[in-house]
Amino acid sequence: MIKVYNTLTGNKEEFNTVHEGKVNIYVCGLTVQNYSHLGHIRSAINYDVIRRYLEYKGYDVTYIQNFTDINEKIIKRADEEGLSPDELAEKYRRAYLEDIRAMNIKKADIYCSATDHIKGIQEMVQTLIDKGFAYHTDGNVYFSVEKFNDYGKLSGRKLDEMEAGSRVAVSKDKKHPLDFALWKKVEDEEISWDSPWGKGWPGWHIECSVMSMKYLGNKFDIHGGGTDLIFPHHENEIAQAEAYSGEKPFVKYWLHNGTIDIKGEKMSKSLGNFFTTRELLAKFKPDVIRYYVLTKHYHSPIDFNLEDLKKARVSLGRLINTRRNLYNLLQKDTDNNSNNGFSYEKFVEVLKKKRRTFEEAMDDDFNSARAIGVIHELATEINKFINGSNFQLNETSRLLLKEADNLFTKLITILGLKFDYADNKADTELLNELIEYILNARKQAREKKDYDAADKIRDDLQKMGIEVNDTPHGVEWTIKKEEIYGG
Ligand SMILES: [Zn+2]
Repeated sequence: MIKVYNTLTGNKEEFNTVHEGKVNIYVCGLTVQNYSHLGHIRSAINYDVIRRYLEYKGYDVTYIQNFTDINEKIIKRADEEGLSPDELAEKYRRAYLEDIRAMNIKKADIYCSATDHIKGIQEMVQTLIDKGFAYHTDGNVYFSVEKFNDYGKLSGRKLDEMEAGSRVAVSKDKKHPLDFALWKKVEDEEISWDSPWGKGWPGWHIECSVMSMKYLGNKFDIHGGGTDLIFPHHENEIAQAEAYSGEKPFVKYWLHNGTIDIKGEKMSKSLGNFFTTRELLAKFKPDVIRYYVLTKHYHSPIDFNLEDLKKARVSLGRLINTRRNLYNLLQKDTDNNSNNGFSYEKFVEVLKKKRRTFEEAMDDDFNSARAIGVIHELATEINKFINGSNFQLNETSRLLLKEADNLFTKLITILGLKFDYADNKADTELLNELIEYILNARKQAREKKDYDAADKIRDDLQKMGIEVNDTPHGVEWTIKKEEIYGG
C-alpha cells in the first residue's frame, strides 16, 4: 500500500487512484525564458522517480507537463536576445528537452504550451464569467476569490486573514486585492490574441487548469510542482478548475517538491544564485546529480553546495564499484560444480528482504533517501557474499549473483540511475579530478605569494576553455567549450 503526503489535507494518505490501475499526473513545468537550473531539474527528477515507481508497481501512468511560453518575462528576454517571443520559447524548450534527456528523465507523454491552448483558455474564462466567478473590467478579466467558497483550502489560509496580511497593491479595477488575472489586456505588444474582452494574453494560472483538464479530465490523481507554487499558483488552479467544472476535488493528491536553497535562500533566477543544468553537467555525471537529489526526500528543501555534490560522487562510486565487481565476476569461468558446503539460503533471503525494504521505503511517500540506503545495504551484502571465505563460483552461486545483479539493476532503474561503469578512463570524472588537482597547485602558489605562477595556471586553463573564477565562496570553474554541451 502506497502512502503519499497530500498538501491538500496535510496528511499522509493511502493512495487510491480515480480510475483503477491508471495514474494521471500533471506537473507544472518552466517558463521557457532561459536554460533550466538545478531547481527545475530537481523537480523533474523527483516526479520522474515517482512515475517510475508507480509504473514498477503496475500502474498505467500518463504524465503531462506544461511550458509557460507567454508573459512579460518572455517578452523582455526575447528583446534582450534579439529574438521573437516564439523563437525564444522554442530555443529554451529545446534546451530543456536536451537537459532532461541528458539527465535520463523520461519524456512526458505530452508537453503542452500555453500559446497552443488560447482557444481553450478563452472558453474557460468565458464560462467563469458566465457562472459569476469572474468579471471583466477595461480589457482585463479577474477571478473573484470571494465567489469561490473554498478559496485558501490548499494553502490553509482564510481569505479575511490573507486580505489583512496582503501586500498586493490594490488595483482600482479589482474588487478584492487577491483577485487574480485570467486575461490580461496588452496594448502595444506585437504578441497578443483577439478575445471578447479585447487584445491580450492569458494570466499565468489559467493555462494549467485548462491543459490539465483537457488531457486528464475534470478529476485526476496527482498534481506536482515546487512548494513555492502552492500559493498562489496552485490555489488559483483549484479555484478556476472547480468553479469551471462544478466538480471536486479537481486533483486528489497535491504533491510538492522542496526548493533548492543556497545558504538558506531559494535558488532562483531573480536572486541570481543559480547553477544551470548545463553548468553542472559539464562538471558532474548525470548519475551523480540525480543521486545527490535523491538522497534527500522530495518534499524537503535541499541546501545546495558543491562539496555535498562531490561527496555524493564518492558515495555513488561505492555502489558502482560493487556493481562492477559483480559484473566482472559473472564474466569468469565457473570453478567447478562441486558444492563445498557454503550456505546460499541466507543470501536468497537477503535479496528478498532488500527488495521488500526498498519497496517499503518507496511506498512511504516515495522516500528515495531511504531507498538509496537500502541499495547500499544490498551492496554490502553482495560484497560480504562474494568475499566470504568459502565462496566458490559454481552454478548455484552464479545463478544467485545473476539474481543479485538483476535486483540491483531493477532498483537503480526505478531511481533512474544508469551506473555506466564501463566508460573509458578519459571521462568527465577523471577530468574533474585533474582540474581540481591543478587548481590545488594554483592555490598553493598563491599561498606562497607566487602570484605569477598562480595567474599563469589560470590563464593556461582559460586557453583550454576552462574558466576559473575566484569567488567569496572559493574557486569555481566552468568548461566553456561548446562540445561539452553537445553543440
Ligand atoms: Zn502550473
